[in-house]
Amino acid sequence: MGLLLKIFIPLLGVALAFYFYSAPENFSEEMLRGKRVIVTGASSGIGEQMAYHLARMEAHLLLTARTEAKLQKVVKRCLELGAASARYVSGSMEDTAFPDVVVKEAENTWGGLDMLILNHIGYTYFNYFNGDVGHIRKLLETNFLSYVAMTVSALPLLKESEGNIVVVSSMAGKTGAPFSAPYSATKFALDGFFSSLRHEFIIDKVNVSITLCILGYIDTENAVRVVSHAIRGTPAPKEECALEIIKSGALRQRELHYPSRMVGSVVLLQAIAPDFLDSLTRSNYKVENIRR
Ligand code: NAP
Repeated sequence: MGLLLKIFIPLLGVALAFYFYSAPENFSEEMLRGKRVIVTGASSGIGEQMAYHLARMEAHLLLTARTEAKLQKVVKRCLELGAASARYVSGSMEDTAFPDVVVKEAENTWGGLDMLILNHIGYTYFNYFNGDVGHIRKLLETNFLSYVAMTVSALPLLKESEGNIVVVSSMAGKTGAPFSAPYSATKFALDGFFSSLRHEFIIDKVNVSITLCILGYIDTENAVRVVSHAIRGTPAPKEECALEIIKSGALRQRELHYPSRMVGSVVLLQAIAPDFLDSLTRSNYKVENIRR
């Protein structure tokens, strides 16, 4: 009993630390008023919802994704909601020149930048790994290398404003999950790169925050269409998720865990009982519904 308590109490402490650490405090919407923000992947899902929250908070917005017609609608809605200004640049993050085009647009329009929200993802399959290395290469370009390229282009502006980099990742970027090997690889890469960069910013006294957002299952149209037949559990709301991402960036948090209890528990189990977590993860899938 004594030994159990000795193990349990520190674990409980760590669990509580994880829980409170991911709960933003002292946020005020005014923190975003007049701020110049880029949101990638803003034509649908969580990115679209972030654009609407930021518009209500009266930020200046530059939105990007591939589908111009959708971006036009989102920009229109942002202006109705009260954005200080809203514009878009359409293009694909598979194009290695595009990240710089987006940042140049912000520089030419605003002369600076306060927050860079990296959120887009390219198409991938949800199934057993099919051996296609070329697909992983392409997905790394969109989901990882374009995040690095945007950061490099935006860094001089962000240093000047002492701004924020917000990187949207996933539980699949903290712990392996079946049927998403290419996606998971790109999300793990984000953690490695941005966690390393954060150290260097601190060593170099660069006052630009990096927030890594670890998200669970969220009810965006694309995610629900792709995985709902094979995953147990209810997805969390994209509107709330989008707001928590903005809060965590503005508060310069190191990581966001959303939904906090679920993701916090997964991160904790990954550290202390990875085999147990793996079996829990597998039991969350309806494997019989995955057709090769
Ligand atoms: P989504 O609705 O599918 O939106 C993806 C966005 O990326 C869209 O705006 C899409 O617009 C854009 N996009 C796709 N391919 C692109 C390309 N080649 N170049 C540039 N933009 C491209 O995704 P979501 O569910 O909101 O997810 C948003 C973020 O949350 C992602 O980083 C995802 O990994 C993370 N996340 C989501 C969940 C979830 O359950 N939803 C869970 C964990 C993490 P176009 O098609 O117009 O280009």
